[in-house]
Amino acid sequence: MKKSKYSTKQRELLIKYLSEHIDEQVSTYQIANELQNSKISLSAIYRNLSELEKEGLVKRCIKANSREVYYQYIASDECQNSIHLTCRMCGKSFHMDSNDAEILLLSVKLNNGFTIDKPLSTLYGICKDCSEQNDID
Ligand SMILES: [Zn+2]
Ligand SMILES: [Zn+2]
Repeated sequence: MKKSKYSTKQRELLIKYLSEHIDEQVSTYQIANELQNSKISLSAIYRNLSELEKEGLVKRCIKANSREVYYQYIASDECQNSIHLTCRMCGKSFHMDSNDAEILLLSVKLNNGFTIDKPLSTLYGICKDCSEQNDID
């Protein structure tokens, strides 16, 4: 059997970690910290993350007030078929109701001629829990 150049032990460790944190945005620093006992170097983490990004399995996210780069694992079928809603306060991600997403995609396409790439798209805002806690209307 031909061995894929991507199937390394380090990649497996990284995917295992990410798949335990689906729909969370984790920073490279966090990942390195969690995997420090697994003998995976920071450069290997960077390299593997950028390969996973090219393959469309993770997406890179930027957070307000942070210079760090965050990654979100979007390999599951559900993630691949969803538009993510990410809370700016608690950092959690949610899947937009699929009917709402279809309506949004269709109307953007009809009115703007633009096809939104679902798994790569995130809308930022404030989630229900956080808005209740903070009395935001
Ligand atoms: Zn998801
Ligand atoms: Zn929230």
